[in-house]
Order: sequence, then structure tokens, then C-alpha cells
Amino acid sequence: MQSLVEVVAHHAQQQPERLALFFHDRVITYAQLFQESAHFARGLSALGLEPGDRVALFLETCPEFVVAYLGTHLAGGIVVLVNTQYRQRELSHILNDAGVRFCVTNETGEEALRSLSVPTLSQVIRIDTDALPHGTASLTLPTAEAPAVIGYTSGTTGRAKGALLCQRNLLANVQAVTTAWQWSERDRLLLALPLFHAHGLMVGIHGTLYTGASAVLYRSFRAAEILDRLEQDESITMFFGVPTMYSRLLAEARQRGRVPHPLRLYVSGSAPLSAQLFTEFEQLFGQRILERYGMTETIMNLTNPYYGERRAGTVGKPFPGQEARIVDMKTRAVLPPGEIGEIEVRGPHVFVGYWNLPEATAEVLSADGWFKTGDLGWCSADGYYTITGRARELIISGGYNIYPREVEEVLATHPAIAEVAVFGVPDPDMGEQVVAAVVPKPGATIDEAAIIAFCREQLASYKKPRQVVCVAELPRNALGKVQKHLLAAQWKER
Ligand code: ATP
Ligand code: MG
Repeated sequence: MQSLVEVVAHHAQQQPERLALFFHDRVITYAQLFQESAHFARGLSALGLEPGDRVALFLETCPEFVVAYLGTHLAGGIVVLVNTQYRQRELSHILNDAGVRFCVTNETGEEALRSLSVPTLSQVIRIDTDALPHGTASLTLPTAEAPAVIGYTSGTTGRAKGALLCQRNLLANVQAVTTAWQWSERDRLLLALPLFHAHGLMVGIHGTLYTGASAVLYRSFRAAEILDRLEQDESITMFFGVPTMYSRLLAEARQRGRVPHPLRLYVSGSAPLSAQLFTEFEQLFGQRILERYGMTETIMNLTNPYYGERRAGTVGKPFPGQEARIVDMKTRAVLPPGEIGEIEVRGPHVFVGYWNLPEATAEVLSADGWFKTGDLGWCSADGYYTITGRARELIISGGYNIYPREVEEVLATHPAIAEVAVFGVPDPDMGEQVVAAVVPKPGATIDEAAIIAFCREQLASYKKPRQVVCVAELPRNALGKVQKHLLAAQWKER
């Protein structure tokens, strides 16, 4: 098999009535999924799609998203994933950057597209109302080297970059993930993550379709609704989420005073899961969340084991068939266990490069295949990786390295603090100084001096925040990641 759509074609032929997707009261079998994808592909070809043309999916989660995704691959196009929360500025950047020719969307999306200028765009396809022409083109399955997806990074540290992945990258990933997590056709995944991002699409949907399993899709995550489903639907075996979802599930379950039936697997990723949350979840749900680490450029990199110890605060070890190492940020020398440096990964999962950004690509991809993740971390003597933060968010104060995550982990245990983000701001004397933005727990008051003293008791003095600012909420992007560059900018404005 050379592509995911080929695997889906195979399932559709072998077990046509097998259930693939659930969405509200709709159920889609593998046969339907493949037929509709093929219809979509022929329609695109009839509209003039040429191999390598970019097709943007600007669409909230629904089965048609998956149909358009597979259909674009069958037609020879490259899928461009677009965050549905994006509006004028970001949309214009992505659609123009990728040189999009077709854009698949719905009513709200069409509205947002109306005033944009995208010279390459020849047609907007309204998936909810437009019937594609009945094409007659014969379809060819993609080859392993065919460019498949341009996924835009979340834009946590700046402008979103388009990461180009080919079919081989996608397959290598899904093989690694499904093997590591013992994913089988008996699984049913509850998926409330957006599909325009690697986590929902390339882990959740790919894994499901690759194994011939099924997924229950939700357009958005509402803790009460998700918990209801988990309580009522015993066929669900897995849940994938970002840490914010876990803290909301936990709060909701606490309020109800009960927890759903145990699942085979709870997985967390996309942002750090604090050791605190991991432990609290285990105490209430009786289950150890499996934390893994990935990014748009490589999809999945590191994972805690399915069998064996899931270690709180760590992201585990490389997936099968992949390598990882820690290198010194300046010398690029490989570091021994325990020392913090940049995480590099190598393997068939590593992307082709950034779309239209040869210099940015050369910066992160070395000639011998190692990819610089831009994340900092260390590896234990027994091979578990811990992420300490992003290289760009490292704070250097008075010559000392301060890893925001370490300070955040301490502050998260303070009884008055609900959420925290630690970041650096320029300081004429020290180079940078540490600032903590905290969201107080309901009813709690923040005593700045007491919080600084609390850190001082548990950490070296140079790591303690010099300032604690109280905020109503942290600026987060669609995946729940804290956008620290916005906090730093807000701080500057004060
Ligand atoms: P940009 O590259 O545009 O700044 P981004 O890096 O947030 O945005 P993504 O590719 O969506 O865009 O996210 C990948 C990043 O998410 C990783 O580099 C890492 O910093 C973070 N991440 C993912 N999983 C974890 C995890 N389990 N623990 C800590 N961080 C994680
Ligand atoms: Mg990134």
C-alpha cells in the first residue's frame, strides 16, 4: 500500500459494510466513504484539477471533510489544511502562500472568503450545497512520493508555516502510531479535535481508517457532552485530546461525582500535560493518560509506552522506526542523558520541507536527515524524554538558562492558581527577566509576594518570577496552546 486512500479502497472492497464514521445521527460505512471520495475525485478532475494543484479544506469537522480529503488525493491534488477560526489576514496568508486553486468550504466559510483576493483560486466548492459534476476520469492511486498535504503549523511562535508531507510520510506515521498503541479494527475513537490539524486528522482519522476501525466525530469539544457520550456509549474504546480537554473533563466529572467506564486508551498531546493533571486524572478516572509528542512537520515523534510505564511529565520514547536525540543548541554535539538541549528526530515521518520556504527548510533539516524540532528537552538514562519548552521561549537571565515549563509546573501546584504561563521579557540589567501570567482560581486572590516566595522555596532564586501578573485568561490558539509571544507583547504595552 502506498497511500491511505489505497488502504481505504481495500477496506471498502473487503468489508464494505464496516462502519467508519459516526457524526450526529449519520453513520458512514467504508464502502460509502470510498465511493463518495471517488465521486469527489472525479468531480474535481471534471472541474479541471491538474495533478499537484492545491485544494484547501476550510471546513469544520464533518464526514464530508474526510471525503474531500481522500478525494483530493485520489484526484492527484495536494490538500491544504486551514484552521476554521482563521479570518481575513490568516486566510489570505495561507491561501496565497499555498497558491490554492480550489477551496472546499460551507456557508460560513464562503462568507469569510468573499472579500479575499486570491488570484490562483479558480473555484469555491460549497460542500453543503454544490453538487460536483459527474466526472468520468479514471482515477489513479497516489504513489508513495506524491505530495499529499500542506499542514500549517499552529502559529504559536509566529506566523504559520506550511509543512509539506508526502504519502510516504503519512503512511510511515500511521504505521508507527497504530503499532505503538495497539490500535485495531475493534477500536472506536471519540474525536472532538479539529480535523485541520495533525492531531485530529493525521493521528485520529488516519489511525482509524488505516486499521479499519471507527471514529465518532464531534465538531467541537464540550466537556459535558463528551462525558455524556463516554458514560452512555460503551462501544467507545479511545479518546484523544489536548491537555485543556483533560482538565475540563476532570472538572466536569468531579462535579458529577462519577466517571465513565474505563477506555482502552486516553491519549494527550499538542501541548504539555502537567504531571499534576496526569496524577489528578489517574486518581479520579483510574486511568493513566498516554502522553505523546508531535508536530505538523513530523506528525508523531515520541510516545509513552502502551505496555510499560507511562511516566508523568514525560513524552516517552521514539515511535518504532524513528530516532531521537538531544543536541547542544550551539555546538550541535549530542548530549548525554540528563542534559537539556534541542530535540532532534530522524525517520520516514519527517516532512519534505516548508512550502515556498527553502531557507527555513534548510535551517531545520540537516543533510543526514536529522530534523531540528525547536523544542528543548532531556532524555533519562532509561530513554524517556521530557520536554522543557521551546527553544524560542527559553529565558536567559543573568547568564542562566531558565526553562519556563519548570517554573510553570511549580506554580501550577499553588492553591490560588488555576492556570499559568511563564515567559521572558527584556531587562536592561539581566538580559531577560521572568514574568508569570496567572489565572486565579475562582474566588482566590493573587498575592504577588507570596507567590514569588512560594517559587523561591522550591526553585533556585534566579528562576523565580520577578513579576506576577493576574489575567482573566491565557491567550490560546485553536489547539489550546498558550501564545506566549502575545503575553510578552501585552506586557510591553503596559
Ligand atoms: P509554530 O511552529 O507555528 O510556532 P506550533 O509549533 O505550536 O506552531 P504545531 O506543529 O501544531 O505548531 O505544534 C507542535 C508543537 O507542539 C511542538 O513543537 C511542541 O512544542 C508542542 N507539543 C506537542 N506535543 C507536546 C507535548 N506532549 N508536550 C509538550 N509540547 C508539545
Ligand atoms: Mg512549531
